[in-house]
Amino acid sequence: MNAKLFELMIFECQKIINDNQRYLTELDSKIGDADHGNNLNRGFQSIYELSSEISQMSPSAALKKTGMTLVMKVGGASGPLYGSFFMGMAKHIKNDSIILEHLPAMLWGGIEDVQKRGKSEAGQKTMLDTLIPAAKQLENEIEQGSCNKDIIENVIKAAEVGCESTKTMKALKGRASYLGERSIGHIDPGAMSSLLLIKAICNSIDVKNE
Ligand code: ADP
Ligand code: MG
Repeated sequence: MNAKLFELMIFECQKIINDNQRYLTELDSKIGDADHGNNLNRGFQSIYELSSEISQMSPSAALKKTGMTLVMKVGGASGPLYGSFFMGMAKHIKNDSIILEHLPAMLWGGIEDVQKRGKSEAGQKTMLDTLIPAAKQLENEIEQGSCNKDIIENVIKAAEVGCESTKTMKALKGRASYLGERSIGHIDPGAMSSLLLIKAICNSIDVKNE
């Protein structure tokens, strides 16, 4: 992965979180404490400020630094969880390079660390309900030998469906779980931020291939 692409990905992630900061906080106001947008924006702003440094690092060091910055700057439940996700991906990089065929293993590594830290799994109305379907779809598309355009389109679709599915779920983890049945009917803010980040990363790849 080249430095320019890494920098573009950071830019797109920071932009999408910044553009949706209020929306994420609004979602969190329904079933949490109205800070998810602000929390994540603080984290991605810091990563953006470090982007020229991060983009010069090896892929595993860059992902590790991204994860550590999120842990330090985001706070709340989502900081350590997103931190675990990026650091978990870093641990599963092969030969310190990122190629398409290794991406599912990296994503599963990140997801596994989120699950360990959060003691959580799919179906509990969290970020995992976006991340897991997206990783499954990516794995399927690669197995089928799909072209980049189809991979991107179908991974985004799977993430959208996953995120939307949290609306009818009852929250079993995090602050939203205190609401019990009253958490039903609202999209989970972390599932939405994961969808936005997946879209941002896919957009950077799209731009690069044009
Ligand atoms: P806090 O709940 O501490 O205010 P945030 O508002 O930043 O933290 O993040 C809330 C999001 O974190 C939730 O919407 C959910 O997606 C995610 N989350 C919370 N607890 C867990 C968990 N145990 N496992 C996975 N994700 C979780
Ligand atoms: Mg919150």
